[in-house]
Amino acid sequence: MAQHKKNIAVMTSGGDSPGMNAVVRAVVRTAIHLDCNAYCVYEGYEGLVRGGTYIKQMGWEDVRGYLSEGGTLIGTARCMAFFEREGRLQAAKNMVLNGIDALIICGGDGSLTGADRFRAEWPSLLEELVQKGDLKKEQIEPFKHLNIVGLVGSIDNDLSGTDATIGAYSALSRICEMVDYIEATASSHSRAFVIEVMGRHCGWLALMAAVATGADFLFIPEKPREDNWKEEMCQVIKGHRSMGKRKTIVIIAEGALDKHGNKISPSMVKDLLADKNGLGLDTRITTLGHVQRGGSAVAYDRMLGTLQGVEAVKAVLEATPETETCFIAITENKIARKPLMAAVAETKEVAKLIDAQRFNEAMALRDTEFSDQYKSYAMSANMGWGDVEVVKENEKMRIGFINVGAPAGGMNAAIRAGVAYCRARGHEPLAIHNGFAGFARHYGDTPLGAVRPFDWLEVDGWASKGGSEIGTNRELPEESGMELIAELIKKFKFDALFLIGGFEAFHAIAQLRKARSQYPSLCIPFTLLPATISNNVPGTEYSLGSDTCLNELVAYCDKIKQSASATRRRVFVIETQGGRSGYIALLAGLSVGASAVYIPEEGISLQMLTADVMHLKDVFAKDKGQTRAGRLVLINEKASKTYNAKLIADIMREEAHNRFESRDSIPGHVQQGGVPSPMDRCRAVRLAIKCIQHLEKFGPKGYERPEKISQDSFSASVIGIKGADVIFSSMQDLEENETDWKNRRPTAAHWMGMKSIVDILGGRPDYPAPV
Ligand code: ATP
Repeated sequence: MAQHKKNIAVMTSGGDSPGMNAVVRAVVRTAIHLDCNAYCVYEGYEGLVRGGTYIKQMGWEDVRGYLSEGGTLIGTARCMAFFEREGRLQAAKNMVLNGIDALIICGGDGSLTGADRFRAEWPSLLEELVQKGDLKKEQIEPFKHLNIVGLVGSIDNDLSGTDATIGAYSALSRICEMVDYIEATASSHSRAFVIEVMGRHCGWLALMAAVATGADFLFIPEKPREDNWKEEMCQVIKGHRSMGKRKTIVIIAEGALDKHGNKISPSMVKDLLADKNGLGLDTRITTLGHVQRGGSAVAYDRMLGTLQGVEAVKAVLEATPETETCFIAITENKIARKPLMAAVAETKEVAKLIDAQRFNEAMALRDTEFSDQYKSYAMSANMGWGDVEVVKENEKMRIGFINVGAPAGGMNAAIRAGVAYCRARGHEPLAIHNGFAGFARHYGDTPLGAVRPFDWLEVDGWASKGGSEIGTNRELPEESGMELIAELIKKFKFDALFLIGGFEAFHAIAQLRKARSQYPSLCIPFTLLPATISNNVPGTEYSLGSDTCLNELVAYCDKIKQSASATRRRVFVIETQGGRSGYIALLAGLSVGASAVYIPEEGISLQMLTADVMHLKDVFAKDKGQTRAGRLVLINEKASKTYNAKLIADIMREEAHNRFESRDSIPGHVQQGGVPSPMDRCRAVRLAIKCIQHLEKFGPKGYERPEKISQDSFSASVIGIKGADVIFSSMQDLEENETDWKNRRPTAAHWMGMKSIVDILGGRPDYPAPV
């Protein structure tokens, strides 16, 4: 018997969140690509209950332009009827009448609870519909098993089992943008601001905003303040002010509590700060409200929504009646299917524990990143929560901080966090200005020398600063003179070096490591925190700055696409940076819905260009005056020695024979970004502290035990996010097994699997591989 085409429906439910449109686009197009019919259920469960025009079959073109739109274009609602069995009966009937085989739901924990309830009741709902005569037995026969997959779309990032929910980083970006604005005025008037952010049961947004902006004080539901919180806050803020700080920022989550479960409100905090008998600060309250939900999604949420949407379609197609209902999660950088109900139950447990004032247990149920970030925030803000102890006198280390390579978003935040941790532990952090070039030209011990102590008041303001405040340089130690560098390391009695940078920094550690046999002063631990927009450092799938760069590129492409659409029938060929790594070109292509992406890992052939021109001609021929008709093609700067953005735009124009026109565009250094993205800032903090903790393990004066240090392969290391883990890799291992030195990138591009997704969702035809 011929099987009918599977009908897969997608809906968005609960509060809207940026990135939901990426989910809808990905589900619709993947379903069609896999020879299924795609449906959208409009207005969440309300649409499922009402049926009729609320359930609509979707074509490939119906989701064009979805990636750059905020909110959810298929609507969402809170549906009271679905809480009742009667409503769910109606929904089940509509599913069967429309022949829906599988339902993909993107929403928060409420929506996913509703989904699981629906699935659990499904057989009895169908039975009741037959008994009542609403459906015939043969009508329900093909739908005996309800296939449901959940996607977590929520700005709160409150679902257990996944590191990020779709929309959370967009909301965080909006919050940080607002706090950055407020900081300028706060500083000008020497004011205090109490900023309330969303989060009734989950302090993720408030915590990450505090980490990313270096706020002075924080209130979140999971970590309620002690009875003396008023005195404590005043003391901390007094301390910050006495250091010379002109602004005070307090971030408070909606659900902030004291340890007895009493609400702490922004006005209580404001009154305290403004109290004439206390701090007497000119204090204002800003409640960010719905601004946090708004705007178009950041690159990460577009990527997450897209990849998870694709995975959800695969999951429904692979499911059997025995398969447990799953949702799609992300752990660090790995997308995986996980049991839905366990995650919902755990999430509800956190809320219950908070209500029961069992806060430590609630905190333990949050993921490790949450508690890591919490500790690092508490420590850097001197809030006294971080359980950081000062090391013994003979364990204290002099740690050199150095930036190598081009600037990347998050470098300063990493230094700030590293310095804060060193201070808390009693180590001595020292800045080496302007990379190895600066170090080598160090003159004397003057305040203008390259090696200087950090001034905390200055460093404290670096949480959200772009560029590199201590200066960076591409020069490698061998170019500066290895003997000189070894001599200087000895002269300054460095016990460890903390490098932050890109491929040059990686190369620098490789050189230092190899020179250890000649220069004992180099027998100290080195560790690298990768920071480069190219994301081409072996040992990690993510480098600081790459997220900032992607956001800049996405914003740029959205604008260009608008212009391309306004004139209709125009293709923009945009050249991205990235060296010989196609990562940012591909990820930007994924986030903006590029028609084609050209990357160095694949090269460019004439056949590819021909196929793409034919495809674009075809697409424009079908357009018939639709809006959102502009098209983007992305090309990495080193994708080909011959074809560049201009040449490709010229070829396309020539070959299009007036069917469409094309232009090239090069965003250039804009891609290095202004203000770093909150993701880069938050990850900078977390990873930098882990780096210093790693260096600490080797203790001071490694040069007195040169063999021991040299033999420990982790004494020269790179921190990285690999799959679901944050790990240190040994430099030697990476150098020998994972580095493509010629092309200055890792031998394996972890992201290559996304290439086919970009091509499929962009509707790109298959083409012969370049020879
Ligand atoms: P957000 O995180 O933005 O609050 P959410 O999905 O948690 O999103 P809710 O308002 O809790 O938002 O739920 C959305 C809808 O899901 C509800 O209006 C209701 O239709 C359905 N729903 C929630 N919980 C249940 C439940 N226990 N049983 C049946 N349906 C439910």
